[in-house]
Amino acid sequence: MKSFLMNTYNRKKVSFVKGDGVYLWDDQNNKYLDALCGLAVTSLGHSHPDISAKIQEQSQTLIHTSNAFIIKQQEKLGERLCKLTGLANAFFCNSGAEAVEAAIKIARKYGNDQHIENPKIIVMENSFHGRTLAALSATDGDKAHKGFYPLIDGLLRVPYNNIHEIEKISKQNNDIVAVLLEPIQGEGGIKIPDDDYLPKLRSLCDANSWLLMIDEVQSGFCRTGKWFGYQHSEIMPDVVTVAKALGNGIPIGACLTNKESSTVLTPGSHGSTFGGNFLSTSVGLQVLDIMREKNLSRNARLMGLYIEKELKEKLAKYSIVKDIRCRGLMIGIELKLKCLGLVEEALKNRLVINVTKENTIRMLPPLIINKPEVDIIVNVICKIISEIKYE
Ligand SMILES: *Cc1c(COP(=O)(O)O)cnc(C)c1O
Repeated sequence: MKSFLMNTYNRKKVSFVKGDGVYLWDDQNNKYLDALCGLAVTSLGHSHPDISAKIQEQSQTLIHTSNAFIIKQQEKLGERLCKLTGLANAFFCNSGAEAVEAAIKIARKYGNDQHIENPKIIVMENSFHGRTLAALSATDGDKAHKGFYPLIDGLLRVPYNNIHEIEKISKQNNDIVAVLLEPIQGEGGIKIPDDDYLPKLRSLCDANSWLLMIDEVQSGFCRTGKWFGYQHSEIMPDVVTVAKALGNGIPIGACLTNKESSTVLTPGSHGSTFGGNFLSTSVGLQVLDIMREKNLSRNARLMGLYIEKELKEKLAKYSIVKDIRCRGLMIGIELKLKCLGLVEEALKNRLVINVTKENTIRMLPPLIINKPEVDIIVNVICKIISEIKYE
């Protein structure tokens, strides 16, 4: 079939036409369990009746006026996000990459305002922050960067989960203004840092007046068993980026800042036409209401512990399995070989998963998942791993 779309994705041949809760149906009416959620987006499941009702209601009232006027839902969602994070204010945009762009602009202006001409931001090896130019520059990987030089200047890359390297680099540079990192690396293969990493990083940021900027685009909104991934440590970030699950599929992102950095951006220094419109922010409020009412962080924590235990027990006999990493419902199974083909094998078994870093099965199942559904996932994963053919 000739396609009029740019060839930017390696799409599977499956075409889904309907979703309900944790399930998806393709155009042949096959039913699949969705253990990916469109990459941590549809955390409340598909066709959630309260979300559908909110979209209908708001679309029949008002969708968009632009940020030239007051948008009450945006004010309210900003307040809710600040109360959840302990931060001071929010800038709304439409995606994760845009949220990261805002964070990078804030870091630069925070530096420029202190007359630091070439402010630098520490970023991580194995990171992912999106595909726009600044976010792409912050993202690690020759594959992502190739063909897009020159990237933005002023980024210093260090190994993840390594305080010593940051201390070292801080002694060689006096124009560092911020550190940007994921609290758990998602695209990087569900890499969970040591418990003392973020607290130590917080102290280092305090000692040097750097902004600690945490990218919660994938790990946010109950995914890890807490509202935000950084909340597994007793720290407060200065800047937090969010997107993915906030709209359950309606595009929305936000960059949140603490009191000190809340006044860095001013009228004219940043903006977005669509950002925070009536539709996306009213859906965002509805998403947060459902997560709170259903205590989905708790369910993510419990189901995460359950799937971790099951996977560790049932996969113990396969020497091909290198490591199993779970925090809440961010789940990675690292194998000792490349396993991109497992996505197809899972689809044949009516399970939707993803493989990242070529060797890590990644699952981000809906936060509403229950034990029998987890059992289905575990059974299929065991089956497809047992069927791997060694060369
Ligand atoms: C997905 C992701 C992004 C990019 O989000 P988009 O909405 O695709 O632009 C940024 N940061 C992290 C940690 C992500 O997982």
